[in-house]
Amino acid sequence: MNMIDAPSPNFNPRAGDKNGGAEGKKIKYLILHYTGTETAFEALRLLQGGDPSHQVSAHYMVDEDGSVMRIVDEDMRAWHAGKSYWEGEEDINSRSIGIEIQNGGHDFGLPDFPDAQIEAVIDLCRAVMARHNILPCHVLAHSDVAPERKRDPGEKFPWKRLAEAGIGIWPESGTGEDADIDRILTQFGYDPRADLKSRITAFQRHFMPEVFTLPEKVGVADPDTVQKLQSLVKKKLGQRPKAPDCRPK
Ligand SMILES: [Zn+2]
Repeated sequence: MNMIDAPSPNFNPRAGDKNGGAEGKKIKYLILHYTGTETAFEALRLLQGGDPSHQVSAHYMVDEDGSVMRIVDEDMRAWHAGKSYWEGEEDINSRSIGIEIQNGGHDFGLPDFPDAQIEAVIDLCRAVMARHNILPCHVLAHSDVAPERKRDPGEKFPWKRLAEAGIGIWPESGTGEDADIDRILTQFGYDPRADLKSRITAFQRHFMPEVFTLPEKVGVADPDTVQKLQSLVKKKLGQRPKAPDCRPK
């Protein structure tokens, strides 16, 4: 992997567990982002602290050609998730590794992610997950942990391809049972205080990208959406015996 050091001053120590337990500072999540900038140069400028009014960073940035910039040490807390929530936890920055993927995103017409870039993302995610024992169900989109504010890495991001490589999980198709969508979204990990439509949209953006070609289905809990969500909750529960950490609340 072509790794380039591009250090940023935007980091601080990870917070300890509020109960003082061994879980404190443990890295649990891998959060994927798009940069949302037209160029990698502009993204790096921001991630390296070039705009004091916009203090952001990430542990890594992956450029379109597959080169990887190492920005913040994995031991440190990078500033990528902002106000966020998953499975009852709110300081996602303290518990995660953040990877920024160069892509213009929604503001620049949702460009495709080049193959070389996705291959590098897969290699990098694999290495990070192995180092910290991050479970596939804890590989999340920024839009999952901040559904009212964020849309990245967006519905064009190839989550299915990553899941096939062991990075993240992917729903099976089948028939769903009647379920309370609000409750089951919370069970999966989404913030129950976030607007329901935003949560459903975030879920579809990650796990049902095909919905975005049918705008009337976006944010709507149709039977297909409920079934896919149920399938994922089941998968997550299935990881419980070897991974108590993965237990939905
Ligand atoms: Zn982001």
